[in-house]
Amino acid sequence: MVFLSVNDLDVQYQSQGKKVHAVDHVSFTLQENESIGIAGESGCGKSTLGLAIMKTLQENASVSGEILFDNKSILTIPVSEFTKNIRWKQIAMIFQGAMNSLDPVFTIKKQFEEILKKHDFQGDFKQVIETAISSVGLSHSILDKYPHEISGGMKQRVVIAMALILKPKMVIADEPTTALDVLVQAQIMALLKNLKKNGLGIMLISHDLGIISEIAEKIGIMYAGQIVEFGLLSDIYINPKHPYTIALLNSIPKLGNTEKIIPLKGNPPSLINPPSGCRFYDRCPKAMEKCKQEPPKIKTSSGFVMCWLHK
Ligand code: SF4
Repeated sequence: MVFLSVNDLDVQYQSQGKKVHAVDHVSFTLQENESIGIAGESGCGKSTLGLAIMKTLQENASVSGEILFDNKSILTIPVSEFTKNIRWKQIAMIFQGAMNSLDPVFTIKKQFEEILKKHDFQGDFKQVIETAISSVGLSHSILDKYPHEISGGMKQRVVIAMALILKPKMVIADEPTTALDVLVQAQIMALLKNLKKNGLGIMLISHDLGIISEIAEKIGIMYAGQIVEFGLLSDIYINPKHPYTIALLNSIPKLGNTEKIIPLKGNPPSLINPPSGCRFYDRCPKAMEKCKQEPPKIKTSSGFVMCWLHK
C-alpha cells in the first residue's frame, strides 16, 4: 500500500524580489514500512522537501503539487487540522541542528510537557514522557536536567524521543547524525534501525550515503532542487546511472581501496535562475549538446533517472 506519495511537488521561496526554486517538480512514492534516503549536497532542496511534507515552510514559500500521506492530502488540509491530527501524531520531524533546538532555560521534562500540551495530549504526562525517554535508551533522571548539563549524543536522543512521543507512523530525520562523533553516530543509527524494525517509517535526509545505506530501501538523489535518480537503494548503489550519483559514490573513501578519491569539481547552479536544460550540465563529464536544451526524465522498471544517456 502506498504510504507517502509526493507528486510534482514544487517549492519556491520569494527572497529580496527574486524567486528561489528550491524544489522543482519532485515526485516519488513510498510503501508502508519502507524507508527512504534523500541524498545530495547542501542547498540542493532536501530539507525544504522535508519541511514541505511537515507543512512547516516559511511564509515566503509558495508550494504546488500534491503530497498524500496515508491517503490524506497534506497540502490542502488546513494548518489547524494538520496540527491537531497529523503533525507529531502521525508524522514527526527531527530537525537539522536538533541539538541546538532545545531551549537552554527549561529542563528536558518541561520541554516534553510543552509538546504534549501543544498537541492536546489527554493522558498521563509522566508515564508517556518516561516511556519516550526509555525508548531511546536514556535514564529518567535526565528529565530534571537542563540541556547544557547533558552531552551532544544525549541531546540528540532527547530530540528523537520528542519526535516519537505521540507515536507517529513516520519520522523525517534531517541530518540526525551531523556534528556527532563517529561513536555517537553509530549509536544513533543503531537506535533509528531499531525503531524502523519496530515499524516506524523513516525518511532520512543526509549528505552521507553511508548513513543512508544503513536504513533505507529506497533512495532519491537530489541535485539543484530536482530528484535526478530515484529507485531501490540496492540497485542504485550497485549500478548508479546518473553521472551525479556516480560522482557522489566515487567520492566516498572505501576501506582497502588505494585508488585516489575522485572529487566532483565545480558548484551547483544558482536556484534563482536555474538552467533550462540538465542542471548538472556544467559539471557532467558526459555532457552532450542536447543536455543544455532539455532535462530528460526516464522511467526505469524500479525508478527513474534524469539523464539523456539512459533513454
Ligand atoms: Fe550529463 Fe547530459 Fe546526463 Fe545531464 S543529461 S547528466 S549533462 S549526460
